[in-house]
Amino acid sequence: MKKIILLLLVTLSISCNKKNLNEVNLYSQRHYNVDKKQYENFEKLTGIKVNVVKANADELIERLKNEGKNSPADLFITVDAGKLYKATELGLLQKIDSEIINKNVDPKLMDPNGFWIPITFRSRIIVYSKDRVKKEDLDTYEDLANEKWKGRILVRSSSNSYNQALLSSIIANHGLDLALEWSKNIVQNFARDPKGNDRDQVKAIAAGQGDLAIVNSYYIGLLLSSEKEEEIKAGKSIKVFFPNQGEGQTGSHINASGIGLTKNSPNKLNAIKLLEYLTSIEAQETYVNTSFEYPANPNVQPHEIVKEWGDFKKDSLDLNNLGKFREDAILIFDKAGWK
Ligand code: FE
Repeated sequence: MKKIILLLLVTLSISCNKKNLNEVNLYSQRHYNVDKKQYENFEKLTGIKVNVVKANADELIERLKNEGKNSPADLFITVDAGKLYKATELGLLQKIDSEIINKNVDPKLMDPNGFWIPITFRSRIIVYSKDRVKKEDLDTYEDLANEKWKGRILVRSSSNSYNQALLSSIIANHGLDLALEWSKNIVQNFARDPKGNDRDQVKAIAAGQGDLAIVNSYYIGLLLSSEKEEEIKAGKSIKVFFPNQGEGQTGSHINASGIGLTKNSPNKLNAIKLLEYLTSIEAQETYVNTSFEYPANPNVQPHEIVKEWGDFKKDSLDLNNLGKFREDAILIFDKAGWK
């Protein structure tokens, strides 16, 4: 009898453990130091353990698909609303319903269908050589196709999701034909074949290999606050320009880093708690002050370095378009010969 009771107790405690493990499991595409800090703070605050699997967004989507109902993942984190759109389309996410999040986050950045929430946003901007480019010569993304920029533009490869999102926005705003024409002309204006990441494009301006670059805004903050002399020098060699600010123009392209709640989230309550925390003023301040992204919570101010660039008009496109037109964007890059 004693044995049976003991066995029962052991079984009971195992099954309890299985259900009540105080944890939350993240599949994350984010590659910034700030994230670790956020999860440690959340753990301290709530006692909920945060487990993270890192990979690129498409790999994580594949994994979620293959694991199906048995997936341990609660949250899917990306640096691209387009990938959240893709996960939604594949039926991998469920709607998020939290009054706290709705109160925390700028409604203009939210998914109109409720399947994902933004945690930060970034703009894909133009940076230009202080010495070799005049601000007055800059205007729109479309204007970068102009012959006057021949041999002067630096930008990373088209396999990168940041460029794919930018071109998706151009397709959504202006159509396929203009997007193809634009891509072809940009390729004609390349200072060199695309290589390296966004930071490398800025370093190439500093080294005189080109005069302007298309990069994500936060990388300028990261360069300027770097511990490496070479990176600070690169950051200081350029100025920031927000394109498409004129009347009747779209505003600068933005993308959200955001999170979706998985369809079969085993720790849903903990997952929602984490989302509420990450959109809180405290966590949003940690984002802006460590990764130089813009806050999704409008009650938080960007970092001083970022604030200095001034306010700008943002493209108001539903960010799901950055996923809707992704396949078209990849085809156009290919046709245009953008490596
Ligand atoms: Fe990045």
